[in-house]
Amino acid sequence: MKKFYCFILTIIIICTISVISFADEEEIIVFITRTGDRYHIESCRYARNSTSIILTEAISNGYIPCITCSPPTIEELIIPNIEVVPEQL
Ligand SMILES: [Zn+2]
Repeated sequence: MKKFYCFILTIIIICTISVISFADEEEIIVFITRTGDRYHIESCRYARNSTSIILTEAISNGYIPCITCSPPTIEELIIPNIEVVPEQL
């Protein structure tokens, strides 16, 4: 029984570590221009001569998402896309 408990505990620890390391990789790069107050994805036409910046940094610097290219937002980082399967009636 004790072995089983240790096994479960190990699984929990491994899961926790992998979730944390996954969160660290969530540093999404967005692009800002010198004059604009919005951040963009790389392919956006407004992102010419832009500088790359980490999404969280862009938001903390007061940048807002571009309405043209719809870059990722902080809400998408916090709440991962969960597919809601509609219940069949
Ligand atoms: Zn844009």
